Amino acid sequence: MEPNEIKSRCIGTIVGFAVGDALGMPVEFLSPEQIRQYYDKGISGFMQAPAGHASDFLPQGSYTDNTQTLLTTAECLIECKKMDPARQADALLSWYLNTVPHRTPSSANMSACKHLSTGKPWNKSGVFSSDCQATSRMPPIGLMFYRHPQTLLRAAQDNCIITHNEPRARAACVAVAYLISRLVQSDERAWPADQVLETADYISHLNEDLAGLMRWSTQIGHLSPKEALFEIGTSSDVMETIPAAIYCFLKHPRNLSNAVLAAVNAGDAADSIGSLAGCFVGALAGLDIIARQWLQGIENSDVLIGVGENLANLVNHHDIEAA
Ligand SMILES: [Mg+2]
Repeated sequence: MEPNEIKSRCIGTIVGFAVGDALGMPVEFLSPEQIRQYYDKGISGFMQAPAGHASDFLPQGSYTDNTQTLLTTAECLIECKKMDPARQADALLSWYLNTVPHRTPSSANMSACKHLSTGKPWNKSGVFSSDCQATSRMPPIGLMFYRHPQTLLRAAQDNCIITHNEPRARAACVAVAYLISRLVQSDERAWPADQVLETADYISHLNEDLAGLMRWSTQIGHLSPKEALFEIGTSSDVMETIPAAIYCFLKHPRNLSNAVLAAVNAGDAADSIGSLAGCFVGALAGLDIIARQWLQGIENSDVLIGVGENLANLVNHHDIEAA
């Protein structure tokens, strides 16, 4: 793959993730009915959260803890040129100690960071939770190690267990990292459902149930988002978040707006499902398909683009496997 194309895909992944997160921000925790009460036509652009919502202090276009924690991973990879779990744990601890107020963080992330703050090492700090928050740290790992599946497998799990040691959470982390690694190098003729099926096979030794749900999510494209997301579920448990994000991605694999808006208008874990759907589209289709309104409206656009560029420079110019 051409270096410029990889660069476009890396930036697309990071920006697509943040855009999905920010579009979901105001409607996290809400039901589809509540979304209609607050927003007549649902979410179609960056909005502020309604008064009384946990994110009501954030301006429109702000992302949540998902993108904040993704950035900790990207910055560690760029700095260390490899997955260094102790360094990642330090970065998470610093996020935990310095982010005031926190942006609706998961209780699993907070508990794990609390463990880190009391001196527990990175491989003992995680909690037994299948919540999806560790998957937010996986897109940069998928980009960094896209040519090295064995390194990716270890890096994803080492990173995951800092906060989540539940087997389904680990399988979900590997799934996100591996799917990104396949999408970022796929050409125009590729059918993304094949890459989801390949990813399901790749993680089936870690958790066959999640692999089965991923395969199922490739077979329900004929359902409307409302029907499909009701069937799959939209909670922050990986057994719902991952197939829900994959369904939205496969419904609109090269259209960021449609994929992400389908995800976030279901409410619930809207930020997590929206961000994952967004990064899958960005990894497949690159920066070019991201509408100007999203690039201009997203918080810290320059930082996000810079992180994508730096990851691209690493994978284009360094021997990651040996590092
Ligand atoms: Mg969040």
